[in-house]
Amino acid sequence: MENGQEYTGIGSRIVAGFLVVLVLMALLVSLGLRHISEANHRLKEIVEGNNLKTELAGDMQTALRERALSMHALSVMTDPFDKDAELQRFNHFGSVFLGARERLSQMPLSELELAILDQISLLMRESNPEVQAVVDMSMSMTGSNAELFDRIRNRAIPKQREIAEGVNALTGLQQELTDTAVRNADASYTKVRNLLIGLGIFAVLIGLLITLFVSRRVGQQAKQLAAQAMHDSLTGLPNRSLLQDRIEQAIAHARRSNQPFCVALMDLNRFKEVNDTLGHNVGDELLREVSRRLKKLVRAEDTVARMGGDEFVIVLQGVGESDICRFAEKLRTALEPAFLWGKQGIDIGASTGIALFPQHAEDASSLIRYADIAMYMAKRSGRDHAVYAPDQEQISRDMLSLKSQLREAIHSGQLVLHYQPKIDHHTCRVIGLEALARWSHPEKGLLAPDNFISLAEEAGLIEDVTRWVLKTAIGQLSLLHARGHALTMGVNLSPRNLHDLELPATISTLLAGNGVAPEYLTLEITENAVMSNAADALAILGKLDRMGITLAIDDFGTGYSSLAHLRQLPVDEIKIDKSFVIDMEENENDAVIVRSIIDLAHNLGLKVVAEGVDTKDAWDTLTVLGCDHSQGFYMSKPLPGDGLMQWLEESSAASMASLQPAHCKLPA
Ligand code: C2E
Ligand code: CA
Ligand code: CA
Repeated sequence: MENGQEYTGIGSRIVAGFLVVLVLMALLVSLGLRHISEANHRLKEIVEGNNLKTELAGDMQTALRERALSMHALSVMTDPFDKDAELQRFNHFGSVFLGARERLSQMPLSELELAILDQISLLMRESNPEVQAVVDMSMSMTGSNAELFDRIRNRAIPKQREIAEGVNALTGLQQELTDTAVRNADASYTKVRNLLIGLGIFAVLIGLLITLFVSRRVGQQAKQLAAQAMHDSLTGLPNRSLLQDRIEQAIAHARRSNQPFCVALMDLNRFKEVNDTLGHNVGDELLREVSRRLKKLVRAEDTVARMGGDEFVIVLQGVGESDICRFAEKLRTALEPAFLWGKQGIDIGASTGIALFPQHAEDASSLIRYADIAMYMAKRSGRDHAVYAPDQEQISRDMLSLKSQLREAIHSGQLVLHYQPKIDHHTCRVIGLEALARWSHPEKGLLAPDNFISLAEEAGLIEDVTRWVLKTAIGQLSLLHARGHALTMGVNLSPRNLHDLELPATISTLLAGNGVAPEYLTLEITENAVMSNAADALAILGKLDRMGITLAIDDFGTGYSSLAHLRQLPVDEIKIDKSFVIDMEENENDAVIVRSIIDLAHNLGLKVVAEGVDTKDAWDTLTVLGCDHSQGFYMSKPLPGDGLMQWLEESSAASMASLQPAHCKLPA
């Protein structure tokens, strides 16, 4: 889409470029043509004027010649009739000459022309009496023939010749002027022609330049696109398709050099959590940091690629089975320093699956797939790396099919809730329950939540699961209240649920629909989910708190937060993670942690719930430490709905007799 737009951008720039050149050329051509047409017009005017002048001068010349001839004829004629006729001819040419001169003098004349014309008129005035005298002598036959001829030859004719020379000068001048005008016009044409040729060359050059520019840009873009298509935009690492290529190259190289290589697929352990709780910006920065550390880890001939999400693939040349442990150790060390976000340190941690060439597979796709399966196995078993083993494939296939069955399971009633009682240390009475999900799988039997909650999160089904759990648990609560058991109900939320802006409204509707007051509902959220500064999560928590719902921090002590942080959140209760409680009796450290959590929580005005209480000693210790409530196998395992009712009846009759003797102070 973006590239399409860029091409359109270039296209319109080319068109604009050519348009500018066209307009420029049209402008210059029209200027040139105007110049030529003006020159033409001027030339036409000059030539026409000069032609007329030349014609008039010619008329004058002819008239002069004819008058001279007439003058001769008159001098030799004897017949009076002939003489009369000849006199008329003589006079006629006189007026022709005068007429022509008159017209000439009325035309626009240059100073030189005017001077010549004035000279002609002067000569005329001088010669006229001589000519007239000759004519008069001829007509009246006075004087001798010799005298007459002498007058003609020596006086009249020379004068006439002088006039004729003046007229000649005029004609010559016209010719000269015409020649100059034609020469000027010629120069003008040459100028315009050169201009047009120049223009043509200019246009061709511009065209060439545009073509050059465009082809270079298109080339650059093609290169850029090719690079983009092969790299991940967030980290700049090779992407899946370039990785495929690199593995194929590694295979070719390994075959030539007879050396093994391995493909390691690494998936970050807590990325989803970081992304969900701290936001995408932190998630992106974390991915960039990981890519930097991985690049530092490998040699130039190795490849680090990002597969998408939080999965990275490393192709290690020359690394065989015996080198894997060393590589895994290096990887662990590289990821060990916590990723720092503000003052907060986030442990990166990753699970890596490794497939070897040629032992496991001899093609790129299989190597990636096997590394993926091995990674999944590492994750499942809580190890940081695992090498592919052929039987893993079946197990991972099972996981995939489970994921696809889960959607169906939610809607076809295969999910069930078990309820684990929470007991008050002061009264030794049941004060509440925690709803724990189970999947009653048609083939695999009852599955614990650890087997499907993370699958639901991965498959985007956790909202549906949570809604179902809330609906069922609140329905159960309403039933219990109706039977006189005024208990609270704890429901577990996933970090993702804190991005569901509909959640408060959904809960409010469910509570109202079942006639349950909000203070009977406790929502359990892991500390990492609430520690997020994500605006959504904080807004939802605030809303739930204002509704009167109890908020508890689950698995407290395992995350990266501190009690001081909790002060800023609308939390009412914390649940100490069962790992501390279970080990408390043997591990001094854990006992100290439990004690300090209880003290600190009380200082902050929070209630403390201990989970994982599976011995009488643990119960007693917690009573001494001032813990408020506890849950654990010692008091009761999580119970199915029908078993719960019976348990409640019996335990209330016995008043949890086994718990009482040591420390319980029963209410009066
Ligand atoms: P959790 O919230 O910490 O729940 C307590 C877990 O501790 C339960 O495991 C419970 O059976 C177990 N437990 C109780 N008493 C003892 C004891 O004395 N010793 C030992 N070793 N374990 C004890 P469960 O039911 O398998 O649940 C595991 C986790 O699955 C829960 O941990 C919770 O995080 C998650 N989960 C369960 N139901 C839901 C649910 O509806 N939604 C969500 N989002 N998560 C759920
Ligand atoms: Ca819980
Ligand atoms: Ca817990």
